[in-house]
Amino acid sequence: MKFNKKIGFTSTVPIEIIFAAGKIPVDLNNYFVTSPDREELLYEAEKKGLPRTVCSWIKGIYSLFQLPFEKIIFVEGGDCSNTTALREVAEYEGIDFISFHYPLKQDSQLCLKSIENLAQAFDVKMTSVREVYNRLKGIRSNLRIIDRAGYERTGLINSSEIFEFLIGATDFNSNIDEFEARLEDLIHKIDTSVYKEKKFLRIGLCGVPPIFQDLFDYLEKLGAYVVYNEIPIEFAMLEGDQIEDSYSIYTYPYGIFARIKKIKQEIKRRQIDGIIHYVQSFCYRNIENIVLKKEIEKPVLTFEGDSTFLLSPRDKLRLENFVEMLK
Ligand code: SF4
Repeated sequence: MKFNKKIGFTSTVPIEIIFAAGKIPVDLNNYFVTSPDREELLYEAEKKGLPRTVCSWIKGIYSLFQLPFEKIIFVEGGDCSNTTALREVAEYEGIDFISFHYPLKQDSQLCLKSIENLAQAFDVKMTSVREVYNRLKGIRSNLRIIDRAGYERTGLINSSEIFEFLIGATDFNSNIDEFEARLEDLIHKIDTSVYKEKKFLRIGLCGVPPIFQDLFDYLEKLGAYVVYNEIPIEFAMLEGDQIEDSYSIYTYPYGIFARIKKIKQEIKRRQIDGIIHYVQSFCYRNIENIVLKKEIEKPVLTFEGDSTFLLSPRDKLRLENFVEMLK
């Protein structure tokens, strides 16, 4: 992989700016979790001194500092304070970085200010940023089609495939044209397949994206299908007419209450039977589980992942029990 022009980032940012600047966005979370060396990356981070009690995403991203990114964007407002400490370490280690802050509330004009500041840092005009945003609109509307296939024609395609496209949209896998072509192939498959209704339990997966790579397939084996990927859908920016709308409607940076409002709407729309609330070990967001469990009027399984990428026998047992209970 050549790193010339590659801009890493720690959480969702307006990638339109990076593309408009002629650079290549790389979501460091996706890069880490799909890396064949991901175990080694975690080991290296601890060896260099990151505490055991820091979440695996932070450790994985820290180890990616060794790659020669042109710059790394740290989302310091709207993500976790771990990212601020990580940026301090990056600064100390001489990494070229930019800090990005979402506003404290869902306000499109405040969000526009944050977007303009980032555009300025890359020396690009907002007209170019808006052009890229409009170019991505068509792809995002295709993402809506596959998301809808998941809850209207459940079982027609694998839920893991839907998840991969939604989460891949944080950086369009660093190549818009390739991403678009692969997505069109999947849509063609959906359009030309004959759908025979299949009976699945309908699961909503809430919380930060799971570190487990076999979660979706295992649930399907149990007869349960993820019809709602809360955070990946948010990351994919499927709503909004202007860039500042999309990045202020999207709930992830704006706290648990904005998220719960949206989750409740989606539970109704997608006729969800039960929620799996994925929590990452040592993540501050786990505290919010208290609110989520009380607010959601569906059975909720709090399901924790740490530093292994495949489900353990105990994890599988917990999922089996949850699915049995829903039946
Ligand atoms: S999982 Fe939690 S602690 Fe880790 S980077 Fe994400 S928000 Fe921060």
